[in-house]
Amino acid sequence: MPYSLPLAGWGRYPVRECTVWQPATPQALHEALAPLPQAIARGNGRSYGDASLNPDATIDMRRLDRLIAFDEDTGTLVCEAGVLLSDLVASFVLRGWFAPVTPGTRLVTVGGMIASDVHGKNHHGAGSFCDHLQWLDLDLGDGRVLRCSGTENADLFAATCGGMGLTGVIVRAAFRMLQIESAWMRQRTVRAGDLDAALALFEQAQGWTYSVAWIDCMARGRHLGRSAILLAEHARAGVLDPERRAAPLARPQRKPRTVPIDFPGFALSGFNVRAFNQMYYAMQRPGEALVALDPYFYPLDALADWNRIYGRRGFVQYQCVLPLASSAAGLRRLLEAISAAGAGSFLAVLKRMGPQSFGMLSFPMQGYTLALDFPATPENLALLEQLDAITAEYGGRVYLAKDARMSPALLEQGYPRLQEFRDLRARHGLDQRFSSLLSQRLGL
Ligand SMILES: Cc1cc2nc3c(=O)[nH]c(=O)nc-3n(C[C@H](O)[C@H](O)[C@H](O)COP(=O)(O)OP(=O)(O)OC[C@H]3O[C@@H](n4cnc5c(N)ncnc54)[C@H](O)[C@@H]3O)c2cc1C
Repeated sequence: MPYSLPLAGWGRYPVRECTVWQPATPQALHEALAPLPQAIARGNGRSYGDASLNPDATIDMRRLDRLIAFDEDTGTLVCEAGVLLSDLVASFVLRGWFAPVTPGTRLVTVGGMIASDVHGKNHHGAGSFCDHLQWLDLDLGDGRVLRCSGTENADLFAATCGGMGLTGVIVRAAFRMLQIESAWMRQRTVRAGDLDAALALFEQAQGWTYSVAWIDCMARGRHLGRSAILLAEHARAGVLDPERRAAPLARPQRKPRTVPIDFPGFALSGFNVRAFNQMYYAMQRPGEALVALDPYFYPLDALADWNRIYGRRGFVQYQCVLPLASSAAGLRRLLEAISAAGAGSFLAVLKRMGPQSFGMLSFPMQGYTLALDFPATPENLALLEQLDAITAEYGGRVYLAKDARMSPALLEQGYPRLQEFRDLRARHGLDQRFSSLLSQRLGL
């Protein structure tokens, strides 16, 4: 039976009353979809904006969470789309396997990772999640469930990988896991005093598997773009000390802390954010260290409900990517606009991306991506329009999984395969059956 409740993405902006179905089997999903005029799938609600919301019919996929098969020889895992990455990490790291690509939270579903074609700190070398996907089964809502891969229904596969749930509901999928020897990371921290130094360090660090920078978005003038760059590799068991080597795949357990209340608006004043950024930058001591896998990949998961820090009005994450050739100039303009406004978040993230993947609406492109949070105030929303203009001027695009407010025009400019995606949806009648607040807002 469906039920109704207020739903939002991770940014808690917008919030809408939605009617929700929660099927527990592929058959129940199939039966729920059949009579519905329109619907959208929802994973664990970790996209920031309105991508997983349809007020009339939102399909919560979290009960389709079975592991179906695992091949120890090839590392191929077959599972249902509602499986949480946190459950995969919990059961597979101990056996020496990890996700080939992971976003900055493990609280996402496999279906959500495919629909956003998520990228990790290894995009420059490993590509995005769907580059490791072998096939998926897609319920098209018209009685058909199709196996899609690079060779079978390849057009639907390319549209579904990064297609934000608008091509049907992913029921199950097969992808290849990554073999690891330990639950530890060998991390090197390097500080860059300004943007040019940060970009030069990223270019020199192409041989590292993982790289990410925390960037001080409040720094100005000669400090503009100063960053702490974290480079990392999975630690081989042989480099661990004897105590850790005794159980190299054991993950140190930490209980997440919680944010008990919605913070008031003044807690996020420009002064506090500036002070935090200065302190965080100073805390990043250059050098090498062994770091446990969870704090390296999922630092924010240590604080459950951290989205409450932004208060009841919610927040928006701005994530754009700029082509390599225009990254230096474009990032400079973006950072100047952000620091001049005195807005922005505690932690801004800069990453180097590798080549564009095959998904029609996949976000990554060869270049640099910048991501940061803004409380959803009218002033900040106006600033984001300025950032949009800069992103467009430098040939970039904004990430759909983070978006709650971009304009259809910006989407058109940033995603050259949009028409192909629209044509495919129309050809299969999917434009009539799958829709979200995001697709309605953007005319997707
Ligand atoms: C702290 C944090 C850090 C993050 N870091 C990164 C990062 O480093 N890289 C990155 O790429 N992303 C990152 N994200 C974004 C997140 O990885 C994506 O938004 C992901 O899609 C969320 O998965 P979900 O299961 O919560 O999906 P939802 O948020 O519930 O849904 C996201 C989209 O997937 C669709 N969808 C979900 N399940 C299905 C299904 N079974 N079939 C069809 N469509 C489906 C929905 O319709 C929607 O369009 C981060 C998010 C947070 C909160």
